[in-house]
Amino acid sequence: PFNALVIRDVEGKPKAGFDKLTFADLPDNDVLVEISHSSLNYKDGLAVSGKGRIARRLPMVAGIDLAGTVVRSKVSEWQAGDKVVVNGWGLSETEWGGYSQFQSLKSKYLTRLPQGFTPAEAMAIGTAGYTAALCVLALEEWGAITPGKGEVLVTGAAGGVGTVAISLLAKRGYKVVAATGRESQHDFLRDLGATDFVARAALAEAGKPLQAERWSGAIDSVGSNTLANVLAQTTYGGAVAACGLAGGADLPGTVLPHILRGVALLGVDSVMAPQKKRDRAWAYLAENLDRTKLAALTTTVSFADLPDLAQAICKGETRGRYVIEIT
Ligand code: NAP
Repeated sequence: PFNALVIRDVEGKPKAGFDKLTFADLPDNDVLVEISHSSLNYKDGLAVSGKGRIARRLPMVAGIDLAGTVVRSKVSEWQAGDKVVVNGWGLSETEWGGYSQFQSLKSKYLTRLPQGFTPAEAMAIGTAGYTAALCVLALEEWGAITPGKGEVLVTGAAGGVGTVAISLLAKRGYKVVAATGRESQHDFLRDLGATDFVARAALAEAGKPLQAERWSGAIDSVGSNTLANVLAQTTYGGAVAACGLAGGADLPGTVLPHILRGVALLGVDSVMAPQKKRDRAWAYLAENLDRTKLAALTTTVSFADLPDLAQAICKGETRGRYVIEIT
């Protein structure tokens, strides 16, 4: 028997708890992986704390990320001993996920451990960090931002997506402004590369549809009024990469920034992103993520700490990224 964090139906409500599983309990997929590390994302917080309905069927092993080693495989592409990562692909929603010492997975979901990273570093990046890379890539490929030209705003700055985004943008030579609700994190964010700050509250209330133009580009993990205000403050021809809803899923804005200033709203999804896009994001991270900064924004915790941390991330009390040591 081995340890897993399983969400079960308890009197009609999803409830997470540690359980002992055996190989016979695992789904019938083609690759068995021994998991060494997983991570904590906002979505994991919702799933494990019960604050959001992430699992679409129960029982469900939570955890949207995992890193580990193939133990046995029914397909020729994967051999025992191969180091792999999985991010998203419905893990913790429809597929059993990474909060388990072993998991049986569909081979099409596996990514080879990206070159240049240890399994622990790959999980320090995890879904949040790889999403941050997708966001920076989206802005650069759109042509909205060029190093050395204009300011780039990152909202939810002290969170997982935010801290990796700031580190990447700073390394690329952008002038990065951090929107955060926590003044206590300014020094930490400055060390990662932020050069100026905006208070979370300044973006949280409904604002005018067009405001003074400031951002060439922005990465938003907050949504709602924050995203509407950021769009209203984006410069002519700029773009905003939106990936999150930490402040709400609504978008109470107007079309004016789009039709008068040509501002683009670029949607970013990590869960179902095709393999090619993932490979590009991981290669970008390998090239552009400062490993000292990655270490500075990462906290490593034990499997047993997970339920408490899930509560904390939902309350906005965590900072940066969390690696969960599974073995
Ligand atoms: P996280 O670590 O909790 O970061 C979120 C940050 O947002 C917090 O640290 C906080 O930053 C800020 N925040 C929290 N509550 C807020 C509120 N009520 N109003 C405004 N700001 C608030 O979470 P994460 O793992 O980085 O994920 C961030 C968001 O992106 C989540 O909504 C997540 O679901 C989404 N996401 C989406 C994808 C995708 O594929 N599209 C992938 C990964 C993540 P400050 O304290 O600095 O203000």
